[in-house]
Amino acid sequence: MQSVLYTGSRPLSSRFQISLKRRRFLKQLGFAGLASSFPSRLLSALAETASTPSSQSAVKNRAPLAHSAFYPLPLGAVRPTGWLRAQLQIQADGLGGHLDETWPDVGPNSGWLGGSGESWERGPYFLDGLVPLAYLLDDARLKAKAQRYLDWTLNNQASNGMLGPRSNDDWWPRMVMLKVLTQYHEATGDPGVIPAMQRYFEYQLASLPTRPLRDWGKFRWQDQALSVLWLYNRNGNAKLLDLLNVLHSQGYDWLSEFANFPYKERITAERIKLNEGEGLKDLALATHGVNNGQAIKTGPVWSLVSGANSDRAGAARMIEQLDRYHGLPNGMFSCDEHLAGLNPSQGSELCTVVEFMFSLEQSLAITGDPAFGDRLERLAFNALPGTLTDDMWAHQYDQEPNQVECSLHRDPWTTNGPESNLFGLDPNFGCCAANFHQGWPKFAASLWMLSHDDGLVAAAYAPCEVHTIVRNTPVHVVEETYYPFRGTIRIRVNPASPLAFPLLLRIPAWAAGAGIKVNGVSQPAPSPATFARIDRTWKAGDRVDVEFPLIPRVSKWFHDSVAVERGPLVFSYGIGEDWVKLRDRGLTADWQVFPTAQWNFALALNLASPSDDITVTETEVSGRPFSSKDAPVKLHVKARKLPAWLAENGVANPLPQSPVTSDQPEETISLIPYAAAKLRVTAFPTLKT
Ligand SMILES: [Zn+2]
Repeated sequence: MQSVLYTGSRPLSSRFQISLKRRRFLKQLGFAGLASSFPSRLLSALAETASTPSSQSAVKNRAPLAHSAFYPLPLGAVRPTGWLRAQLQIQADGLGGHLDETWPDVGPNSGWLGGSGESWERGPYFLDGLVPLAYLLDDARLKAKAQRYLDWTLNNQASNGMLGPRSNDDWWPRMVMLKVLTQYHEATGDPGVIPAMQRYFEYQLASLPTRPLRDWGKFRWQDQALSVLWLYNRNGNAKLLDLLNVLHSQGYDWLSEFANFPYKERITAERIKLNEGEGLKDLALATHGVNNGQAIKTGPVWSLVSGANSDRAGAARMIEQLDRYHGLPNGMFSCDEHLAGLNPSQGSELCTVVEFMFSLEQSLAITGDPAFGDRLERLAFNALPGTLTDDMWAHQYDQEPNQVECSLHRDPWTTNGPESNLFGLDPNFGCCAANFHQGWPKFAASLWMLSHDDGLVAAAYAPCEVHTIVRNTPVHVVEETYYPFRGTIRIRVNPASPLAFPLLLRIPAWAAGAGIKVNGVSQPAPSPATFARIDRTWKAGDRVDVEFPLIPRVSKWFHDSVAVERGPLVFSYGIGEDWVKLRDRGLTADWQVFPTAQWNFALALNLASPSDDITVTETEVSGRPFSSKDAPVKLHVKARKLPAWLAENGVANPLPQSPVTSDQPEETISLIPYAAAKLRVTAFPTLKT
């Protein structure tokens, strides 16, 4: 090997050249230790040019693919600041940055590190959040952790192109690792990624006719399609279009299912024959929450290949059906872990929260439908932090909008076990422990996008900075805001030189009366549920001020109950909490939470004009804005207790049909953001007026 290198007497094989490039690349990144399996003097002897870091510009769809309305910016172009950066740091200081130190499934014996331990989805799941977390925080410790798995994966590709541990050949966990590789390449430009993906896809294309997609991979094929599209847009290899068609033909037909949606009731174990061992059969998999969360992107993703508008509309159709029969006020559909109906005492799995978010991010980009941005914020600011402890060292498997106790009990879950709503390391089942890490980082990375006509798009709002390329010119954007706790957003647009391009600002459906100013000059009033478009020649220092009126409002739910909302935040009555440690779990612990107060209130609201009956108080937005200790906004509303509405076995009974009457005295109760209340009532009966 040495003589080949020094004399150049014969060409290095392409795979070997890639390996050398990767090692040189790792050394440049400061991972000399990781590259040290190769003698450093040989590395320095190489005269190859340095691999360039990934570009900050978005990559558009390549013909014959249909175009997307918007394109995601590469990982690293959008950086969180303010409270959002603090949230990612909490994650890094909690399980997000330490899971491998305390949970053997992603620890040193992981199959994705060459060990004999867990070799299926958990390693890739963890990486799917660890990679964006590490690069958005620019955290060398986390990058080094991620790099070990990436190196093992890229350096141990089989000669036939297969990736991953040899102990199984399941397509599904590899679908997750492909998502990891695309993000890693965007952040670093590692030259080993694209050839490895191409070889893997060619191997899969050759193998699928005799070893077709099955169970999880069959129902989650659209997630792999995204990675195939990502690669096709970078290398234009026509075999990838063939692979997309095979994945589509072997994958589950979600679009047909939702054209005539059959699952309109709470799904029982009997209905899907779980007791007869049919957990991996179509009926169980089609009603599985995480599968549905991932499936929401299917129509938009496939529309890039099919070009059909009816496919592109598929995500909105799926959400409409899930909401109608299984919708909950925290933005989720019920899935504990199969579809569970409209009762807000049913749960939603954390994996489904983060997969639904990822589907919304992708669907928003492809379709340009602002409703997906509204929904994404509803999940990111409510359901996601609402199922994690303030320090992100513990999470639930299932969260409930009306969650009056978190304890060992079998009810009300459709098919989940008695630990499902405990806070802990891996309650009920370990998938969420590995998978939840993708939620916050991918949300941060998706705040801004590039439009098809080369404009910048504010897709969702939170404090951040953007460095990207628009029309071949570097553009720096600074977004300062305490949104969603406040309605003011300040955006500074700084192109390297004066540049004409459109700025698109998402105006949420709830934001009637929103105002936009450019350099202090009011713009035409924007319409809710649209993207407001500002076409002008931007110059450094230009300032855009957006003001969203945060008027409290209500939404209607199960048995005509109401949830109180303000902007993208949903509010809950926070029940007094008694946290009781169940057991230590290495660096963390499992907890039960018991109520210390009554919670069975009905609200006194004039539903025709609810804001008249709701008082708002605001306090400083802290570094932990979703903590109950520092709730930066509270709503105060009149209520009466409803003694007949009780809990059994730790579960609130179904809400009585509203309106209701009560002879209890009227009192004023305070509501805090959903996420701040780990024990909570979110859907309330209303009193007859
Ligand atoms: Zn899960």
